[in-house]
Amino acid sequence: MEKNFSRRLTLNTNFDVIVVGGGPAGITAALASSREGAKTLLVEATSALGGMSTTGLVTSWCPFSDREKMIYRGLAEKIFHLSNQGLPHLKKDVLDWVAINPEHLKVVYDDLMIQYGVSVLFNTQLAAVDTHEDVVESIILSNKAGLTAYQAKTYIDTTGDADLVAFAGGAFMKGDDWDGELQSATHCFILSNVDTYGFENGPWLNKANKNSPAYKIKDDEAFDLIEDAHICAKLLGPDTVGFNAGHIKGVDNTLPESNSKAYMTGRKIAAQLRDGLKKYYPSAFSNAFLASTATLMGIRESRRIVGDYVLTVEDYAERKSFEDEICRNSYFLDIHHPKEDEDPERKAYYDRMRLVKHYGKGESHGIPYRCLIPKDFKNVLVAGRSISVERIVQGSVRVMPVALVMGEAAGVAAGLAIHHNGEVRNVDVQKIRQRLIEEGAYLI
Ligand SMILES: Cc1cc2nc3c(=O)[nH]c(=O)nc-3n(C[C@H](O)[C@H](O)[C@H](O)COP(=O)(O)OP(=O)(O)OC[C@H]3O[C@@H](n4cnc5c(N)ncnc54)[C@H](O)[C@@H]3O)c2cc1C
Repeated sequence: MEKNFSRRLTLNTNFDVIVVGGGPAGITAALASSREGAKTLLVEATSALGGMSTTGLVTSWCPFSDREKMIYRGLAEKIFHLSNQGLPHLKKDVLDWVAINPEHLKVVYDDLMIQYGVSVLFNTQLAAVDTHEDVVESIILSNKAGLTAYQAKTYIDTTGDADLVAFAGGAFMKGDDWDGELQSATHCFILSNVDTYGFENGPWLNKANKNSPAYKIKDDEAFDLIEDAHICAKLLGPDTVGFNAGHIKGVDNTLPESNSKAYMTGRKIAAQLRDGLKKYYPSAFSNAFLASTATLMGIRESRRIVGDYVLTVEDYAERKSFEDEICRNSYFLDIHHPKEDEDPERKAYYDRMRLVKHYGKGESHGIPYRCLIPKDFKNVLVAGRSISVERIVQGSVRVMPVALVMGEAAGVAAGLAIHHNGEVRNVDVQKIRQRLIEEGAYLI
């Protein structure tokens, strides 16, 4: 049943740019927008900034290098170095798969917001979007003050789920082209009271090690929720290890019922993995304590927008450069559980992925500015895991170093757009690139 409601709401017009979603992409977007001189508001549904990198307990940065040099630079590089200060045990000068101390990183992000003059609203969720033709006129936020409308010139959607674009009625894709199948989710967690000596000198837990105890846990009927041997583990601090482990299939983060069920399953998986590690890896985990599960479900994929350009597998395979590229990426095509073999057409689609060789040293591709512009709106940009790419390519561009650099580009563009009535296509993309290069970006 549907029913029309009308409400009188307070309208806040204090901001030029509003960024919705305070994960890696939203953080750099807000910092860069404010640095360009735009009055900027960052809206975050949880009580901390960082998204997956903090609240989601994803405790490891994907590579910052192309295996020759750092390629995620500018604000990303700054955040990476500040993040590392929270982990005294890190080896110097390592750029790839570096651990994250989430509590330290939350404060890094808070301090940057204060330093760059960004206004932040925590525990505040995007509730609705008001449009007129191809313009987003205002958005409605929900928090302890109830519902409040906000009007800005430009909006940046960094919700990871393209909520703003979807609520505005813009075009998006979700999952694969056959049945909307989505990558599995993972509910990350932290174990404390780990024997650090045992962990550092015992078997590598990753599934790439065929002798990993993860395989024994998977095969043990007592741990019925553990479907595969996916375990990535990082030492975070004294006797404390962060886990990106276990998979939950069929979670759609845009459906509250699906997401809520996943938390309940995720918490049980974390407990089973702790018990499995106690049993099959006692030298490190015999006394391990489940200290925390993530407040934010680990979602790899949901909506991705249809933008002015859709980055293709062929672009990725050719390591393509673009005149309007605003960042570069070299991460591999990392899709968890595509259903590749059931349907011949689907199989052919995923065969294209297998034709793409892993990038060699020094190789990367560009991401065009057009992938950040939803085709239906004049004054909206998107950054992070829901930009305009083919599904297979989303498996690469979804990770955090890439989110950081594309967020910075969106922020610069929105900051410049305030001189063009907020219209993002009217900003000279070469000016965006010039500003990014001045701020240290790696662009070709
Ligand atoms: C299990 C898992 C493991 C991963 N492992 C790694 C890894 O090892 N290394 C790596 O670099 N990357 C990894 N990734 C990828 C990476 O963490 C995410 O894809 C990345 O964080 C995406 O950044 P984002 O800013 O687009 O979104 P997110 O980090 O998801 O941030 C989105 C933010 O928006 C907020 N938000 C959402 N909707 C709303 C709304 N309606 N209103 C207000 N706020 C909202 C959320 O609370 C969140 O803070 C992993 C991802 C998952 C799920």
